Amino acid sequence: QSLTTKPHAVLLSSPGAGHLIPVLELGKRLVTLLNFDVTIFAVASHKSAAESDIIQSAMRPNLCEVIELPPPDISALVGPEAKVGTILRVIMREAKPALRSAISSLKSPPTVMIVDLFGTESLVIAEELEISKYVFIASHAWFLALSVYIPTLDKIVQGEYVDQKEPLDIPGCMPVRPEDVVDPMLDRNDQHYFEYLRSGEEIPLSDGVLVNTWKDLQPKTLAALRDDKLLGRVMKAPIYTVGPIVRSLGPAGSKNELFDWLDKQPSESVVFVSFGSGGTLSTEQLTELALGLELSQQRFVWVVRPPTVKTGDGSFFTAGNGGDDLSSYLLPEGFLTRTHHTGMVVPKWAPQLEILSHPSVGGFFSHCGWNSTLESITNGVPMIAWPLYAEQKMNATMLAEEVGLAVRSEKLPTKGVVGREEIKCMVRRVMVEEEGNGIRNKVKEIKRSAERAWKEGGSSYNALSLLAKQCEIICKQRQKMKNL
Ligand code: UDP
Repeated sequence: QSLTTKPHAVLLSSPGAGHLIPVLELGKRLVTLLNFDVTIFAVASHKSAAESDIIQSAMRPNLCEVIELPPPDISALVGPEAKVGTILRVIMREAKPALRSAISSLKSPPTVMIVDLFGTESLVIAEELEISKYVFIASHAWFLALSVYIPTLDKIVQGEYVDQKEPLDIPGCMPVRPEDVVDPMLDRNDQHYFEYLRSGEEIPLSDGVLVNTWKDLQPKTLAALRDDKLLGRVMKAPIYTVGPIVRSLGPAGSKNELFDWLDKQPSESVVFVSFGSGGTLSTEQLTELALGLELSQQRFVWVVRPPTVKTGDGSFFTAGNGGDDLSSYLLPEGFLTRTHHTGMVVPKWAPQLEILSHPSVGGFFSHCGWNSTLESITNGVPMIAWPLYAEQKMNATMLAEEVGLAVRSEKLPTKGVVGREEIKCMVRRVMVEEEGNGIRNKVKEIKRSAERAWKEGGSSYNALSLLAKQCEIICKQRQKMKNL
């Protein structure tokens, strides 16, 4: 009997553009490269207009069905001090009944379920439906390594991770310095930590893990994850390296002042400064950054947000809101006038991908969110690493010390104010000095390796094909059982 059923993947995304965009992009690849049917369930969040815009454009071309799940009311479940990671896990937990009933009312039953890091508890729905279950880590392999090793570290490390004298050993991987640990590990008594620990236990129980990296970027870490004498001891599920999964540029948008200005600048002469969808700085740091940029005498485009007293992840759900009037942004006196010809300051949000792909842009002063990092690499732009929250400190360390795509400050920006002189030096190291040429060459080499990974026969292309084969086998087995 011929089997004609197409695999139907259900993808689940937690709230936030940084989470939904990679899931949308993965969905598109499952459709175009593997001929899957894809339904994406996105738990809605309160988005700024700009964030909604990039989500809308990431949905095009309209290849996947996208169904928004209403955000559950969690006000009675989390306190005012709850961390973003806790809020996301609780939202995803409470959204489970709605997800379950939405899946059961789909016209064509799914054959595969893929959840993101915050949705691992929903894998039980795949078990109930007896379909295969995968986790998509929209970050890199070193982060995955730490995440699946955290239940072990929890048993062997005494006291707070941040107070350890030695780096945390992860078998076969670069050790993680105590000051670089991911946000949920900052306080072992916080709910955020228990939520992370739970995801670390759940990930290896899946049928496989898709990770947004590629073989040539992290060969050593990937080998450790697959070696059962090293991390493979805990990471039993197969790993599919399906990166880089990044947004692709939409059709050329209407020209505006910013792009008119960029068009007039010399090649690779502009540094783009932006801290993702949630990054904000203190007033003092904002001043030092402005003056550092000015002192560097380099051209810049800076996406500026009103300062916050609270650094870290506190603005994840609100950054991007606020007025367009730059006078409320507390920039140093006269800064806008003095830098009128050399810089552009954009309030709140800018079309990052279009900017990074512009030939005049030659550096990215970035919070190192993984999407931003991949967008920088795939456009061949070297980085100045300014990690703020989530796993960004690990990202910065990996980029600056392991792969060689970035420079960074002596002190972590989360540990205090980085002064204007150091900011000036970092910008000049990348944009002017010889060191910048080395980094630029390296980033272009990695960019080419990313392109190779997605060519027919490349490592990410093959990994996705392998995943399809595994899904097909499971699909056929299920049909056979039904026909018995
Ligand atoms: N982004 C953008 N304009 C902005 C800020 C962010 O287009 O002004 C996009 C950026 O291109 C990336 C995503 O939002 O695709 C941010 O994801 P990332 O993982 O870098 O950081 P997060 O916001 O999750 O911390």
